[in-house]
Amino acid sequence: MIKIVVAGARGKMGSEAVNMVLNEEAFTLVGAVDLGHNGKKLSEVEGMPSSDAKIYDDLSVCLKETNPDVLIDLTAPEVGKRHMRTALEHQVRPVVGTTGFTEEDVQQLTALAEEQKTGAIIAPNFAIGAVLLMKFSQMAAKYMSDVEIIEQHHDRKLDAPSGTAVKTAQMISEVREKREQGHPDEKETHEGARGASIDGMHIHSVRLPGLIAHQEVIFGGEGQSLTMRHDSYHRSSFMPGIKLAVNHVMGIDTLVYGLDKIID
Ligand code: NAP
Repeated sequence: MIKIVVAGARGKMGSEAVNMVLNEEAFTLVGAVDLGHNGKKLSEVEGMPSSDAKIYDDLSVCLKETNPDVLIDLTAPEVGKRHMRTALEHQVRPVVGTTGFTEEDVQQLTALAEEQKTGAIIAPNFAIGAVLLMKFSQMAAKYMSDVEIIEQHHDRKLDAPSGTAVKTAQMISEVREKREQGHPDEKETHEGARGASIDGMHIHSVRLPGLIAHQEVIFGGEGQSLTMRHDSYHRSSFMPGIKLAVNHVMGIDTLVYGLDKIID
């Protein structure tokens, strides 16, 4: 049995993760962290599933009282970073889906995970299809180096560009020679028209109600283009990846960034 705490348990992703943990034979939910309802059982909160797991508004107190193996964090950028540090300091393995981590954050957390000899996983996208899109994009970029990324998310998302788009660009960068995309003399008549730039690749972020998480990677070449697209229509699409990460994190003692490092 793997003992799990879910942070952000009342949120859109967190509530899906709570259900996944409760339905998985090898997992047991020992606690939940969220704002509000401190001290209540999950089952006492409207809309939450039947579970005796207690809700805490403070992760340290929760970890001391419940002694879990794994923390699943699906909260907000600054909270996720703080929670990850707290979990590692308690030698609890964090599996983090919260997005908005910078390269510097990942480096600092990797050092802490190694110091604490505690496994950790951060994955900007737990949907297996999205991870395959990143891998296929890296493969295509070897042959087609002109590339732009369009990511689309719901309009409650706090960070832009998405963690998935940044991770895709980083993976493409490993094989693509750094250069600025587009005409050398191009000028924006409206600021932001060309989107964000990572190593010269442009990323465009769409935010609209009704969307969940979608991404297109478009490669252009002489007389041709190649478009790859992934869509998450429901948050259940992220759960097999979270399950995989929880099982994987039990066997490692350092930080792994990205589900692509776990699936072959
Ligand atoms: P959400 O619905 O806003 O849920 C966030 C939850 O965290 C809310 O219940 C919120 O409580 C709670 N929270 C906020 N601050 C907290 C704190 N200090 N302590 C404890 N709980 C706190 O957001 P979401 O759509 O579920 O997304 C959550 C995160 O997952 C985001 O970073 C998003 O980008 C990311 N995400 C990742 C993936 C992936 O595959 N890796 C996929 C989708 C989303 P209140 O509502 O009371 O503020």
